[in-house]
Amino acid sequence: MPDSGGPAPPESGSKELPRPAAKVLFGRFKLVRLLGFGASARVYLARDLHSGRSVALKAIPKGRAAKNGLSHNVVREIAIMRRLRHPHILRLLEVLASRSKIYFVLELARGGELFAQVARGRLPEDISRRYFRQLISAVGYCHSRGVFHRDLKPENLLLDDAGNLKVSDFGLSAVPEQIRGDGLLHTLCGTPAYVAPEILDRKGYDGAKVDVWSCGVILYVLNAGYLPFNDPNLMAMYRKIYRGEYRCPKWTSPELRRLIGRLLDPKPESRITVDGILRDPWFKKGLGEEEWAALAKFHSAETADLENGKLWKSEEPDRALNAFDLISFSSGLDLSGLFGPPSNRERFVSAEPAEAILARAEDMGAKEGLVVRRKGEKGLAGVVVEGQIGNLVASVVVRRLADGLLVVEAEDGGGAAEMFFLKEKLLPALKVPATEPGSSASVTDRPHPVS
Ligand code: AMP
Repeated sequence: MPDSGGPAPPESGSKELPRPAAKVLFGRFKLVRLLGFGASARVYLARDLHSGRSVALKAIPKGRAAKNGLSHNVVREIAIMRRLRHPHILRLLEVLASRSKIYFVLELARGGELFAQVARGRLPEDISRRYFRQLISAVGYCHSRGVFHRDLKPENLLLDDAGNLKVSDFGLSAVPEQIRGDGLLHTLCGTPAYVAPEILDRKGYDGAKVDVWSCGVILYVLNAGYLPFNDPNLMAMYRKIYRGEYRCPKWTSPELRRLIGRLLDPKPESRITVDGILRDPWFKKGLGEEEWAALAKFHSAETADLENGKLWKSEEPDRALNAFDLISFSSGLDLSGLFGPPSNRERFVSAEPAEAILARAEDMGAKEGLVVRRKGEKGLAGVVVEGQIGNLVASVVVRRLADGLLVVEAEDGGGAAEMFFLKEKLLPALKVPATEPGSSASVTDRPHPVS
């Protein structure tokens, strides 16, 4: 499909006025047309003028997201999606922000929603199997990295132009940090018809089991063309879900019937696992060893790393900040600065050498009779300033932004005296007056790329 959405040249002799020029965001993304609406966002087809590549641009108004309490969903979605790389998971390529909106630059799924296909009628069993395999491969990969989607449904499954599945919308997904002491998740979420029974009884649930249940509902819908649990009365629908009360349509093969039964098992303890699904005869039917191995690839060294606690927390210390960090000025999962920086932290960009900045931090701490020490590794250096009893007064971290540019992040230890030290002593010492050569520009004053 051509997607050169530029202004059409006026026909010769035509009296029509030329259409207004297509909007170009950040001097780079030319908006072509609207692809769809979400709960809090519009998604546009856009052309990246730098690469010539077509992308999907999801525009999330900051104000609306904050008002609807969705800021943390956006932040979580970024934190999660930036870590996921799988052929059947929609890639988040970049995050940009203007004063009023956050933009996700996403891999384009030209085929639209899988839901639209099912809405036209049920799918043949072989086609359902193909989508289901791709879904399980993606879900297994997420689980092996400690990510649980929690809102799997055909509307969140997009298709690329080759008809391959792309799981999207990680706004409700959970990561290990959200698991409570009992090892379970407790947030009520999901879409009613796809929600697992254990979410309804509010005693906590295992994110992996809940995703497997939703995969069962999806498989049922692909095969039947309608929902397994449905009732105009929500309570009656929940009762059916709770009891696992559904009937497969008569065209369902016995093997598929059996698998759906294992997926839609209301007891999470006996419900089939992703490993079990991979070994299931209906799932494996006609699948060569190599194809099977490719689908089950998530069982790799990465899983072992996760079990060793390495994967989720790991950040390569010696890397320049990327676009995600620039917008959020985040480290690890802490993207809380996205909707406004916390008051006890300030960041600025400097063209000075890191050593000069850190030395001034040390001098200022020592001058105030505090204890100072260096911390950090290559590419991420810092100074910690402590009181005489080891209490944190302030910390300074310096990261490489680009050649010759650094981001300096200074934070106080919480408390009035600490805040005073940060604002009145440390920050003025760290920043070179704007008139001097090698001066710093405060990015908290202008945190947004220009649109
Ligand atoms: P969302 O806000 O993510 O639910 O997206 C709203 C709608 O926009 C989706 O239901 C799709 O129809 C469309 N959409 C979202 N992301 C993409 C994408 N990467 N490629 C194509 N269409 C998309």
